[in-house]
Amino acid sequence: MKEEKLMVDGKRIDGRLPEQLRDIKMKLNVVTRANGSAEVKFGKTTAIASVHGPRALFPRYLQESGTGILRIRYNMAPFSVNDRKSPGPDRRSTEISKVIRLALGPTIFLEDFPKITIDGFAEIIEADGSTRVTAINALSLALAAAGIPMEDLVASCSVGKIDGTLVVDLNGKEDNNSEADMAFAMLPNKGVISLLQMDGALTKKEVLKLLQSAKESCMKIYEMQIKVLKDFYKGE
Ligand code: UDP
Repeated sequence: MKEEKLMVDGKRIDGRLPEQLRDIKMKLNVVTRANGSAEVKFGKTTAIASVHGPRALFPRYLQESGTGILRIRYNMAPFSVNDRKSPGPDRRSTEISKVIRLALGPTIFLEDFPKITIDGFAEIIEADGSTRVTAINALSLALAAAGIPMEDLVASCSVGKIDGTLVVDLNGKEDNNSEADMAFAMLPNKGVISLLQMDGALTKKEVLKLLQSAKESCMKIYEMQIKVLKDFYKGE
């Protein structure tokens, strides 16, 4: 049962239009001990990504002779949500860590780093929906800032259906009361989709429409990623 309407007069509860992203902020190298790091905010949702490596992998039995490996840990801080989240890993964070690794893996030349690991951490400081996609955007920037050889960046966003309307970038209340939501990531230059998860029910037509919206939103996010990288290296 929905507590309140999510769409009123064509606008969402935070005043956005259906196809409108939240205010997005991106910052590079926010963690001094990392090889590369980034903070990305989608509205109130805040992810800090920290990349360490390429570095030797121990214990040795974890090493792979023909390739390097990417390890990802996604973690939501206990204070990031209204109802305190118990600290430490759980099934949700284990699954999200895995799908983030799979979303980022295709862009990294891991075969150039046999026996080596690249470790990426995504800490969610504040959660208001779409945390995994925010984490992917932050990790993609952090990998680039760490100088990891990559074929492309990875841009990511959520899309879904609320009160019968197809929307992009769901906030927490929209996510929890949606009819359907999808997490999406792509390598913008290669046009490869590296993450597609969906909850709820949609028609084929709606899925196709949402995929198009997700691609368009990811291209906007990609432009922002490129800008923040260029500005950083120009010293702005
Ligand atoms: N959430 C929460 N407590 C939790 C997990 C999630 O309040 O333990 C909220 C949070 O705002 C999150 C949203 O529910 O962003 C949606 O979570 P979901 O598991 O769908 O993943 P996300 O959309 O964050 O990638």
